[in-house]
Amino acid sequence: MKKAYCPECGAKVEVEDDVIVGEIVSCPDCGLELEVTEVEGETVKVKVLQVSGEDWGE
Ligand SMILES: [Zn+2]
Repeated sequence: MKKAYCPECGAKVEVEDDVIVGEIVSCPDCGLELEVTEVEGETVKVKVLQVSGEDWGE
């Protein structure tokens, strides 16, 4: 697994090894949706995904 860090709460987020830029992952801690912006070795960079609407679910 690769890892990313949530820009909002700093939690470590595990990401699949075959992750691609543009993929969406969720922070296990605060639940924010994060968009992958860069994949570099073991580390993945993410930014907070701006969502419209409030259909969040679990
Ligand atoms: Zn978070």
